[in-house]
Amino acid sequence: MEMLDIFLGSAGKALSNRDIELDLEDPDRITVYRTLKTFEQKGLIHQVMDGTGVTKYAICIDDCDDHSHHDEHAHFRCEKCGKTTCLDGGITLPSDIPNGYQIKNAHLVLEGRCADCS
Ligand SMILES: [Zn+2]
Ligand SMILES: [Zn+2]
Ligand SMILES: [Zn+2]
Repeated sequence: MEMLDIFLGSAGKALSNRDIELDLEDPDRITVYRTLKTFEQKGLIHQVMDGTGVTKYAICIDDCDDHSHHDEHAHFRCEKCGKTTCLDGGITLPSDIPNGYQIKNAHLVLEGRCADCS
């Protein structure tokens, strides 16, 4: 529950396992990991690939439930402070996908300066 508060308190911002551990009073790496997996399965948070190689999670802003995620939105990574945020609004997928290909996930990362840094 404490972990969900952390996510809600930083709405739209992607957090890594380490960010969350730093915010907890008595962090336990395994519990943090398991809780993230549980939240993800319940459709509360989604994985964010921001090109840093570190898996981050952010609260779902789309209509996600415990069966499927619909987080087809872009992420923005600030090159200065390193903050990654979810951008509302969908991304347009290419219409000419070869026959037989199935898209499961789409990751679009925009880089630049956030409002605090520009
Ligand atoms: Zn989701
Ligand atoms: Zn910034
Ligand atoms: Zn997102």
